[in-house]
Formats: sequence, C-alpha cells, structure tokens
Amino acid sequence: MKKLEELVRPNIWSLSPYTSARDEYQGKDAKVFLDANENPYNDPVNRYPDPLQRELKQRISVIKGVPADSIFFGNGSDEAIDLMYRIFCRPGIDNAVAIEPTYGMYGVCADINDVEYRRVLMDENFQPDADKLLAAVDANTKLIFFCSPNNPSGNNIDRSVIDKVLDSFDGIVIVDEAYIDFAGVPSYLRQLESRPNLIVLQTFSKAWGMAGIRLGMAFAQPEIIGIMNKVKYPYNINMLTQQRAIEEVMQHDRVKNWVDSILKERTRLMDEFRKLNCTIKVYPSDANFFLARVKDATATYNYLVDCGIIVRNRSKIALCGNSLRVTIGTAPENNALLDALKKV
Ligand code: PMP
Repeated sequence: MKKLEELVRPNIWSLSPYTSARDEYQGKDAKVFLDANENPYNDPVNRYPDPLQRELKQRISVIKGVPADSIFFGNGSDEAIDLMYRIFCRPGIDNAVAIEPTYGMYGVCADINDVEYRRVLMDENFQPDADKLLAAVDANTKLIFFCSPNNPSGNNIDRSVIDKVLDSFDGIVIVDEAYIDFAGVPSYLRQLESRPNLIVLQTFSKAWGMAGIRLGMAFAQPEIIGIMNKVKYPYNINMLTQQRAIEEVMQHDRVKNWVDSILKERTRLMDEFRKLNCTIKVYPSDANFFLARVKDATATYNYLVDCGIIVRNRSKIALCGNSLRVTIGTAPENNALLDALKKV
C-alpha cells in the first residue's frame, strides 16, 4: 500500500477539523453545561449527541471483535461511501474502479464528487476477474469497490479475487458487506489487522432490521477512521439513533432468529419461484433477496404493482436483462407474491 499521506487528498490531510463543544469537554461529572448554546429546557433532546458515539462503539466492538478505534458510524453506510470519495479522490483527477453490476451508490457518489468511475463487467455468473480489475487501475486510481454478497446479483464474490486485489493494489479496497449476515461465509473484518488498505462496510439496515434509524458502519485501521472522523459532520449520528441502536444491541440475539427465518423463507421462496411459468432462471443467493430472470420483467413488475406487491425491476442494469430483484419477506408476504404470480 502507498503511504496514507499519498492516498489522501492534500486538503483533507492538512485539514484542521471543527471542534465541537462536546469534543472539547468529554467528562460526565459536570452538573452545569453552558458550553454549547443549547436550550436548557426539553431534556434530553435539548443536548447535542456524543459526536463519536462512544457507548455504541464499545458495544459494537465486543459484538464484532474489532477495537473501538477501528469503527466509524455513518448516517447509513451511504455516508461512509460518500466519505471515501471526499477523503481519497481529487475531483476531476482521481478515479475509482468497481465491479459491475453492483450497488448504485458507488457510481452516484463518484458522479457527485466529480470522480471518474470505472465499471469492470463481471462474468455471467456475476464473478469478477482480478486481472481485469487491476488492468483498469492507473496511477490516479484511489479506490476499488467490492460488494459481497453483491447487490443486485445476491451472490458472494469469489474471495480469491478480492484477496488478489488486496495483495496487488496499492490504494484502498472497500468490501461492502451490507448482506454478510445472510452469507454463510466469514467477514473480511478478520483481515483488518493484516491489511492496512482494507475498509469493510456493514449496516444496521438489513439483518439488524433498523433501516429506519439510518446507521451504517465502516471498519478500518485507526488512522483511516481518524480521517473519517475529521471530515464527517460533527454530530452525524443523532441522539435518538444512538439510543435506539444501543437498546437493540442489548437484545441482539433477536437478529440471529430473524436471519434464520429469512434464510428458511429464502430457500422456500426461491424453490417455488423456479416453478412459476414466468420464470426463466433464479440466480443463487447469499443475501436476503434474490435475482430472477423472467420472460418479461416489465410486464411482471407492472402486474405485481397492480396487485399491490412491489419488487425491484433491474432490467436496465448490466447483465440483468429481464431480471427482477425480490426481497425475502415474511411467509405471508412471500405467499402473496407466489399466489399473484401463479395466476399469470
Ligand atoms: N450497501 C449495499 C450493498 C446496499 O444494498 C445498501 C442499501 N440497499 C447499502 C449499502 C446502504 O445501506 P444503508 O442503509 O446503511 O445506507
């Protein structure tokens, strides 16, 4: 890996970050807080939240087996994705490489930040080729994005490809593990210590069932986390989100039960989906959704909308012609989908 100083944009490297009142005084013993221009009434939401979410980080550190100083929380993992560009990529100069097709926000954030986004097409089984990815790299490539399990294809990306890129590329490699709890393979978190150029993204939006509170995680070496903390908005995770996440983390056994039910339903729904008249192919899934090629995706999508059932039409995405992406719901929700499709 190049030195971090060579990878980070010079203005970010030399940035003096904003210091908030809650950064300056961190003790809990004081009785009178007259430092942050808050309103003294309407306890507790009158107070600014902890800018570094220390209590939540301690708890997640135990669950994930990652030191607290290697954890960043964002307003969804989308915030962390955007920060990657803002920290590492000089607008109009640097570029990022990503597998294609994959999660759309990597490309959108590249566009927003005026960063060239190089899509490297996978094979028809949605597996990338390490040499093709590395061939797309030039001296101004700062980031390579993997998503595993991948959205929208649903499959785990071949680890030997990710490992080869991690070994060979001297910039930052991002492995987005939003769906890892459904994947049945180990997380890349275990490689954080040995791989200084690795950033792993996870989220509370999927297996944890908290998409509504907007909380995403990035894991990386403490020096990178320190730079993310410098660049983020001072109070990016609001108090209600922090509190709710702490409560949920204390009963995180529930997550395993949810995942077990979703995995059982995934097997059943995919088996049943294969038997439908409209289905051409159901792709294998390691996530809480699957991709299916059907005879006419737009007609099927519109028919389902008329039935009050919404799936995702991915037909315009590379390698996904006539394909629908179906999230695994509860058994009654999945039955409603199957019943509707059995009628066509
Ligand atoms: N990564 C992937 C692969 C996703 O599919 C999504 C959401 N669909 C996200 C990240 C964003 O998750 P969050 O809700 O944490 O912003």
